Amino acid sequence: MTTPTSPKALADAVRRGERRALARAITLIESANPAHRADAEALLEALLPHTGRSVRVGISGVPGVGKSTFIEAFGLHVIGQGHKVAVLAIDPSSQRTGGSILGDKTRMVDLSRDANAFIRPSPAGSTLGGVARRTREAMLVCEAAGFDVIVVETVGVGQSETAVADMVDLFLLLLLPAGGDELQGIKKGIMELADVVVVNKADGDLASTARHTVADYRHALALLRHGGAWRVPVLSCSAFHKSGIDAVWATIGEHRAAMEQAGLRAQRRAEQARAWLWSEIRETLLDAFRRHPQVQAALPALEASVTAGTHIPTAAARTLLERFLGRPVTNSD
Ligand code: GDP
Repeated sequence: MTTPTSPKALADAVRRGERRALARAITLIESANPAHRADAEALLEALLPHTGRSVRVGISGVPGVGKSTFIEAFGLHVIGQGHKVAVLAIDPSSQRTGGSILGDKTRMVDLSRDANAFIRPSPAGSTLGGVARRTREAMLVCEAAGFDVIVVETVGVGQSETAVADMVDLFLLLLLPAGGDELQGIKKGIMELADVVVVNKADGDLASTARHTVADYRHALALLRHGGAWRVPVLSCSAFHKSGIDAVWATIGEHRAAMEQAGLRAQRRAEQARAWLWSEIRETLLDAFRRHPQVQAALPALEASVTAGTHIPTAAARTLLERFLGRPVTNSD
């Protein structure tokens, strides 16, 4: 990809809300070409003063729970309230399988046609950290372009929830009207990340099951969490019939007010910035490590002997690190 304009000119076009510039800026950020990184960083530096003023909402749930239906209904509702909505996705499944859980079907058709919405599928990447880093940056670009509600969507099947919870103000977990976590395929620990729980598909034959699910999770969450500035609410909605969506949006507003009042909003963002710095250091180091010629030369044989059980991983890691650093690794390192 070539960038026809300078990072400064691109930043100005993004700030004016030009959609093509926005798309181009994100493509630049996602570029795997190391030569584009300097431009991407210059662009982000130019945009940084104009970021941070959105409501950042993470949404997760197992495949089939109704994420795209919900985000479409939610996005259209929020646009109706005078906002601009950007939807970004983190889909780590595409790394392992070559296909993606989030991206395969035609999703959010009505929302994608709306002039006040911007939808970007999950960036490609070899690691979750890499995908998350691009999404964080894309979020900043969207904010600078005037989007004041950012939805970061992920599948509720793995570690990506933690990555998303680490970059948003509020993490919303969508549930099915059904039994406990195991039945719903929800991984341990994900419930602890939720700031708001919403039982979707509360309609038709599922309406009464949905009521029971709401009661069950209210009970479970009351046991799980104590005190704090925010009690995790359990709501229900029908994304399909677009009912209960207004209450979800109102709850997001209440969460924001409660966090601000307790001084926790700024604190959460400051902690996220620090965590981002460290994950950036990790990712950059790992990239450099993987690309190092001496490491590349030794890696296949060492990996094979580790998997065959003839070499201990700690020793193999030390050998590789020594090649990377060009000096022996000592205990004082
Ligand atoms: P995702 O995989 O989580 O993105 O789920 P989708 O949004 O693609 O929805 C999966 C299926 O559930 C689709 O057939 C939807 O039409 C259906 N669905 C989504 N929301 C609702 C709802 O509120 N009520 C009912 N009855 N079906 C829904």
